[in-house]
Amino acid sequence: MTDCSMEGTIDSARRSWVDTANDGMSDFPIQNLPWGVFRGSDGVGRIGVAIGDRVLDVRAAVEAQVLDVPPETACSLCAGTLNAFMGQGQASWRAARAAVAMLLDGESPVRPELLHDMSDIEMLLPAAIGDYTDFYAARCHATNVGRMFRPDGDPLLPNYLHLPVGYHGRVSSIVVSGTDIVRPHGQLKPEDGPPVFSACKLLDHELEFATFVGTGNEMGTRIAIADAMDSLFGIVILNDWSARDVQKWEYQPLGPFNAKNFASSISPWIVTMDALAPFRVSGPKRESGDPEVLDYLKPVTDDVLDVQCAVHLSSATMRANGVEALQLSQGTLADLTWTFSQMLAHHTSTGCPMRPGDLLGSGTISGPQKSARGCMLELSWRGTEPVELPDGTERKFLLDGDELTITAWCESPGAIRIGLGSCSGIIQPAV
Ligand code: CA
Repeated sequence: MTDCSMEGTIDSARRSWVDTANDGMSDFPIQNLPWGVFRGSDGVGRIGVAIGDRVLDVRAAVEAQVLDVPPETACSLCAGTLNAFMGQGQASWRAARAAVAMLLDGESPVRPELLHDMSDIEMLLPAAIGDYTDFYAARCHATNVGRMFRPDGDPLLPNYLHLPVGYHGRVSSIVVSGTDIVRPHGQLKPEDGPPVFSACKLLDHELEFATFVGTGNEMGTRIAIADAMDSLFGIVILNDWSARDVQKWEYQPLGPFNAKNFASSISPWIVTMDALAPFRVSGPKRESGDPEVLDYLKPVTDDVLDVQCAVHLSSATMRANGVEALQLSQGTLADLTWTFSQMLAHHTSTGCPMRPGDLLGSGTISGPQKSARGCMLELSWRGTEPVELPDGTERKFLLDGDELTITAWCESPGAIRIGLGSCSGIIQPAV
């Protein structure tokens, strides 16, 4: 009988028969078991679970009748995306996670025929994303940007500490890690002349995480903050590529538009909320003097996720010469002022329906230190403090050929380290 509790799947004593999952350094030990979709030999998506440097072919496991899950769950796990499985809810996710853990457990029979080498397969987007919303939930980022653009006033706008600010983003340009990013064109407004149409000159990354909505809500109903965590399927790394010069000219009065719609990259493996449970901390932090949040946004569980992250940059020259990528910054998801649960409760507070596979971005993760600034706009302080690269060049913003890579992982005493893998993209010249 499979143990379907969350505790069973995060037990730090557990080991897998896949040796590379057990070295203490892998992003994907048996305590993680993130879900993704890879391209099968017939070209169609197949659901997989990462384990060490391998990927479990979940459909093959279902067809071999070695995955102990209910028929409805088995059916959804044979689909080409994770949407149907996401829509089944926490009990189904937990049962499937427990069954995968049992299949890969060191005490279970070895079944190498169900695995692929991770390096041999192509990852696809894990879900058909219906809607995408990006928030602005890290106070340090909002404060830094406010200081740059409104030096004379309060850097935070009056609504900031009362509600999670966000905007509705574009789904058609969300791509999986490894996809090249073409420098966008846009309308730019020089300080001393009329607007021009040109390739973006101030291309930037934004270090973010995003959560996939699992179970949604019917239109006209709300997801209460107490239920929000159970509605969330898991998280990925997000890079919200941004054209700062386009943004500066277009953003008033309705917010970002073309500055954000040309590309957003996500990492391919969705780490579930159960896998993240050992890394939850209380919060989010409020400072003395901050207003109390309204009841519908009051946290009821410890749902701040302490996920560490780092951003690395390598130029084409650095890669050609085998020079190690430069770490630009590091941060933690725990620096968010609004949690994913609060974002979901607020988003649905009007009765706006969410559907399985919808994506909510966190907003740029920046911390109080300079080393924790999550985008080039902040790192170079609007271009006034360029970053020096090991190849002798400097960056105010990203240049063609630059590769940006975000990695993320969780560590906590008594827990096995897990990781989210990476999210990368190389800038290609404008066309
Ligand atoms: Ca963003």
